[in-house]
Amino acid sequence: MNRNEMEKINPATLRPEELEAVYAISRAVALAENIDSALDEIIRLARPVFIFDNLVLYLKGKETLEPAYARAIGRGRFKGADLSWGEATAHEVLQSGRLLSRIEEGGEEVKDRTRFRFLLGLPLYLENHLEGALVFIRFGGPPYTPDQVRLSEFIAGLVAQLLGHDRLVKQIAHLEAERKLNQLQEDFIATVSHELLTPLGFIKGYATTLLREDITWDDETRREFLTIIDEESDRLRELIENLMDSSRLQAGTLKMSFQTLRLDSFLRDVAMRALSLHDNLQIELQKDLPEIRLTADATRLAQVFDNLLTNASKYAPNSTVTICVEPEAETVLVKVADNGPGIAQEHLKSLFKRFYRVPTPDKNVRGTGLGLFICRQIVQAHGGDIWAESEVGVGTTFHIRLPYDQQESNQDLSLRESSA
Ligand code: ADP
Repeated sequence: MNRNEMEKINPATLRPEELEAVYAISRAVALAENIDSALDEIIRLARPVFIFDNLVLYLKGKETLEPAYARAIGRGRFKGADLSWGEATAHEVLQSGRLLSRIEEGGEEVKDRTRFRFLLGLPLYLENHLEGALVFIRFGGPPYTPDQVRLSEFIAGLVAQLLGHDRLVKQIAHLEAERKLNQLQEDFIATVSHELLTPLGFIKGYATTLLREDITWDDETRREFLTIIDEESDRLRELIENLMDSSRLQAGTLKMSFQTLRLDSFLRDVAMRALSLHDNLQIELQKDLPEIRLTADATRLAQVFDNLLTNASKYAPNSTVTICVEPEAETVLVKVADNGPGIAQEHLKSLFKRFYRVPTPDKNVRGTGLGLFICRQIVQAHGGDIWAESEVGVGTTFHIRLPYDQQESNQDLSLRESSA
């Protein structure tokens, strides 16, 4: 219904109960959360003044008319209601663009009142575009009165408004999602550029300095500068590898190679590696490690533990890091605990987000905030979970829960239990 036709509806010609229904419907529509609940309310409020058995909303699909809402109500509900959904009428309305009132006959074999179906098809105009049709179906008459036709036109006008509103809400949500995505991409590029430019700045600066012909550098200084260039290049490579891992993990394209792995020997390797890499840590590995087998990608899982221990060396230097294992019903919990400065509660949840770093005045401890993000993605790819618990001044414990191979491990566990 377009604006001109809407204006033709004159509330003064409606009976008091119809007028009351019109107001109640307007109010209900204004409050409705979506088209379906609005139509449910319209049916509830319109039925006392306007008898119909079926109501169907058809909307223009890509090629055909699609029923978007259909309700069978009233007396014909259990018999003939399903027989008529007014599809042909809706098509005609869409072709002509006008209101259509017609009677369909079900055939002589239909003996009850559902034989004659009184259909009222109304076009739904949205900004002068025909978007669909609303069809009222009444079994067995009587024919619709002019007042009832006007009321149905009024309802169709409201439904068209609802469609417009619905479309607007969807468009806004779509725009908002796009805006958020753009913002995320911009933030990502800004952070990545900054992180890449920092080591590159050192490399370029020290290389340019060394190349200056007006200054002669002694061996020690030259060596110091070259060491910085060397370290910063490593950092740049690590950063790019982390970035690639993180985007592959997010896109789900990082290939994992799963195989059976003995958790006890795996953790012994982890501890040995950490001892040789971080001379500011003491590592205490649980002595009686249960013989648990996991299905895991050994390289990726090692990356998780190596990262936790590198973090301990960076953020909890001179700690004693304990690694222990607690078998559970279907999973195993591995705890990596340090006795470093700890992490304040408000940061714990965000720790595993991409690029998140706990703000610290110590600018010497460098990082990108990608490590724990990658850890979580890898652990999740194993069907597990990782989280941190911490107390400031006491230390931080990282928990890694992983599913284990029940059949093979249980045997070992029960053996251990019986020999204990
Ligand atoms: P990065 O080390 O590159 O900053 P991570 O994602 O590995 O990134 O760690 C995120 C943050 O978590 C670190 O910046 C640090 O503030 C904090 N953190 C991680 N491990 C510890 C730890 N063992 N003790 C205290 N803080 C930690």
